[in-house]
Amino acid sequence: MALEKYKQKRKFKSTPEPKGKALKKLQQRFVIHEHHASHLHYDFRLEMESKIDSGEIVLKSWAVPKNLPEKVGERRLAVEVEDHPVDYINFYGVIPEGNYGAGTVKIWDNGKYDLIRRTEKEIEFILHGKKLNGPYVLVKTHFSKNSWLIIKLKE
Ligand code: MN
Repeated sequence: MALEKYKQKRKFKSTPEPKGKALKKLQQRFVIHEHHASHLHYDFRLEMESKIDSGEIVLKSWAVPKNLPEKVGERRLAVEVEDHPVDYINFYGVIPEGNYGAGTVKIWDNGKYDLIRRTEKEIEFILHGKKLNGPYVLVKTHFSKNSWLIIKLKE
C-alpha cells in the first residue's frame, strides 16, 4: 500500500496530521510546506500516482532544505520522503513534541500544476502557484537512494 510508511511513522492519537488514504481521482495540485522541525526545510508535494499506473493518488513528497529554486537554471537538492495522503495538501499546524516531524507546519505556496512528463527518473511539470510559476524538472541522482535535484527550467 502506498501510505504504509506514512502510517508507520505517526501516532494519530497525538498528532493533528490527517490519517487519510490514497484516492482514485487526480486534481493535479501541489503544495509547499514550510516545516520548522529540528531544521527548517520545505516539503514539496505533488498530487500524483504513487507509482506510475498504480491508480493510487497520493502526495509524492520531497524535503527540499533550501526550498525550490526561483531562477532559471538553479538547482536544489530534494530528498524523496514517504508518500503522504492527499488530505495533507490542506494541513498546517503544530505537530507536538515527541512526534515524527515535531514542529510548526505552514503552507508556503500551493496551486495546480501541469504534468509534462513522468518516468522513474524524471518528472517535468509546470507550476501555477501563488509564489512559484513556470517549468521545473525533478531528476533522480546517483548520490543516494532518495536524492533528486529540482531544477527551474526556461519558459
Ligand atoms: Mn518535513
